[in-house]
Amino acid sequence: MFKSFKYRIYPNKVQKEIMAANFGCTRFVYNHYLDKYIEKAKNDSFTFDYRECLLDLKSLINEFPWLKEAKYSSLYSSIKNLDMNIKRKKVGTLERPRFKSRKFNKNSYHVKNENDSIVYGGKYIFIPGIGKIKTRNTLIQKGKILNATISKTVSDKYFVSLCCRNVQIDKFKKTGKSVGLDLGIKDLVITSDGNKFINERFFDLALPKIARLKRNLSRKSRGGSNYEKARVKLARYQEKVKNRRIDKLHKLSNYVVKSYDIICIEDLDVQKMMTSGTMSRKLADASFSEFVRQLIYKSKWYDKRVIKIDRYFKSSQTCHVCGFEDSGLKDLNIREWTCPQCSTTHDRDINAAINIKVQGLKTINV
Ligand SMILES: [Zn+2]
Repeated sequence: MFKSFKYRIYPNKVQKEIMAANFGCTRFVYNHYLDKYIEKAKNDSFTFDYRECLLDLKSLINEFPWLKEAKYSSLYSSIKNLDMNIKRKKVGTLERPRFKSRKFNKNSYHVKNENDSIVYGGKYIFIPGIGKIKTRNTLIQKGKILNATISKTVSDKYFVSLCCRNVQIDKFKKTGKSVGLDLGIKDLVITSDGNKFINERFFDLALPKIARLKRNLSRKSRGGSNYEKARVKLARYQEKVKNRRIDKLHKLSNYVVKSYDIICIEDLDVQKMMTSGTMSRKLADASFSEFVRQLIYKSKWYDKRVIKIDRYFKSSQTCHVCGFEDSGLKDLNIREWTCPQCSTTHDRDINAAINIKVQGLKTINV
C-alpha cells in the first residue's frame, strides 16, 4: 500500500532560497514543455511524448545553465507531472493544463529518494541538496520512502510530503453492515439508518472577516511589505476555514468507513455541477467530491467497499417500501411526503438513502 506522510517544516533563510530556486527551475521546465505542447497541438495532433521531452531536457539545460541549480531528477519529474496532467484532460478536446504561476499557485517540486538519502530524524527531515530541515511533527513514517514533495502554500507555509511504499495499515474490523448515503446541501450526509450530518457553514460564517481582510489588502500598494503582510493574513485565514471544512469531512469519512463494510453512494457528476449554481452550492459540491474521494481511498486502506450507483436512478422519487414512483417530487422543497400507494410517510433524504443502499446492494448480487 502507498501512503503519504505530510510534515510542516520550518526552513531557514538559506534553505528557503534553495527551495525558491528549485520551485523556479521546475516551474520553468513545466511551462516550457506545456508551451511546446500547445504549439504542437495547434499544428497537428494532441500528442505529448514525455520521453521526447526528456531527451530534449539536456539541451534545455545547456541553453539555460541556471537550471542546474535544481536536481536533474526534480526537473525530470516535473515533465512526468506535466505528462500526467495532460493525460488527465479529456482526449481530443481543447482542454489543457494551465501554466504554473509563482504568485497564484502552491509551489512544489519532487525529490527522488536516491540511495536512501531522504531521512526523517524526529526533529528534522534530511533532504538531499538542502540538508536538515526543522519539523515539529512527531509522526513516524512507515514503509519505504520513494520520494519527497516539497511545497510552499500561498500563505507562505512550507511542507514536506513523504510518499512511501509497502505501508502496513491496520484494517478496521468488519461490522457486517452496509449503508446507503444521500448527499445534500442542508445536511451534507444522510444515511439509510436515518443519521443526518449537518453541512456546517464554515465559509458563510467566515465571509464578513474575509471581506474585511480583502478590503484591507486592496488599500495597500502592490508589491510593498505591507501588501505582502496583508496578503499572507488573508491567505492564512482562508486556509484555516478550508482546513476546518476538510477536517470535518475526514471525521465523517472515518466514521463511515469504520462503521460499515459496504458503502453505497450516488455517482455524482461533480465536474458538471461545479460550473453552475450559487457559491454555497459550489462549496457543497466541493465538499461532496472531497468526501467521496476520502471514502474511496480510505475504503481501500481499510479493506471496505464503495459502490457507486447510476446517477440517473430516481432515488428520491421512489417509495422504498412499495416501489411507487412519484414524479411530482422533483421539487427539492418537499422534505416529507406520503406515498399514495402504501401510505408510508417518508423523510425525503432518508428514503433516498435507503433506495441508494438497496440499489447498490443489487449490483453486487448480479
Ligand atoms: Zn409506497
